[in-house]
Amino acid sequence: MCGLCLPHCPTYAKTQNEAESPRGRISLILGLANGHLQADDKLRAHLDSCLLCRACEAKCPSKVQYGEIMDAARSALKQGRPKQEQRINIETLATDKQLQRREATRLWLADKTGLRALGRSLGITKALGLERLEQLAPCIDRPHDWLTYYPAKTEKKGDVGLFIGCFSDMFDQKTLNDSITLLNACGYGVHVPTAQTCCGALHQHKGESKQAAQLAQQNIDAFAQLDISAVISSATGCGSHLKEYQRITGNSLPACDINAFLSQIEWPQTIQFTSLNKKVAVHEPCSQRNVLKQSDTPYTLLKRIPALEIISLSGNEQCCGAAGSYMIEQPQMADSLRDDKLKAIKAARPDILVSSNIGCALHLAAGIKAAQINLETLHPISLLARQIKI
Ligand code: SF4
Ligand code: SF4
Repeated sequence: MCGLCLPHCPTYAKTQNEAESPRGRISLILGLANGHLQADDKLRAHLDSCLLCRACEAKCPSKVQYGEIMDAARSALKQGRPKQEQRINIETLATDKQLQRREATRLWLADKTGLRALGRSLGITKALGLERLEQLAPCIDRPHDWLTYYPAKTEKKGDVGLFIGCFSDMFDQKTLNDSITLLNACGYGVHVPTAQTCCGALHQHKGESKQAAQLAQQNIDAFAQLDISAVISSATGCGSHLKEYQRITGNSLPACDINAFLSQIEWPQTIQFTSLNKKVAVHEPCSQRNVLKQSDTPYTLLKRIPALEIISLSGNEQCCGAAGSYMIEQPQMADSLRDDKLKAIKAARPDILVSSNIGCALHLAAGIKAAQINLETLHPISLLARQIKI
């Protein structure tokens, strides 16, 4: 109740409303728990508007586990709540590989045939209520099957597993392929078990704790038979949730973010990078900054590229508004927070923006495109892979 977290909360900064702050939300949850408050629409809205960015938790001197409290509250409130009407339920899409493949193929075909642009110009996308999703979905690659193993390309140091996730598999195959390229070049064979599924973060944060635990256990089992030193993830949103499996299931995965893994290992002397005379701004996702606490790792890796000017995007301590499905369900707050990022980008004028979380990258790229800013957005690993000389 000290309130030291309040200045670090993005929704409180935007509204100056105590009920939109960490302390206020904890008070509301306490009121619910002791029966002094009812779970009415107003109370639910204050809890729903939390981004779960956990900036408050990172600053709390009493180490209050805000994320755990909010997950438990949302799980309790989930009972009897009507599902939001959407053509595609995001959590279903995250776990259904066939549906993912069908939707990805549909988007790919719509791009290739020009139907997507036509639907946008005729207002069909808007009429179907898909405008928000359509803005966030980039041009995507045709879905493809992953090999189950990618061998090391140099003297072998070991094997790792690769967590491909759900939306990374749909929208960010490039980063996954680039991660394999770098790991293989550094002497690591990469297993991609087909039995893996969505990490379950979307479900956990929306109160679907039972399904989140099932997904966690499926992933633990998928990697359990492999002789690997780590399970590598390329999206910090997934990676931070993989680290919570011990709390959720009682079993753990040896999860490691790709930036952290490549920062820790010894690289072969033969690997060099071509110089790049450009300015790159580093966006630090909340999951990387507040949960993994590894926001230094992209800087460490990018320093390998000669002549590259690396800056931290001003305002990195504040969430960009993506926050999983928040960018679709709470568009007003999500866009207001993104506007702050766009202002910082315009002031810094970088040539490239890097972000280590696919959700943030999609949200930021959609804003950059709408604001007609000429800027490439990609994962730091993809920038490294592009400059590598093997
Ligand atoms: S998780 Fe983020 S949005 Fe939610 S209360 Fe904490 S600082 Fe505010
Ligand atoms: S969550 Fe921590 S920082 Fe925030 S009011 Fe409570 S004790 Fe203070």
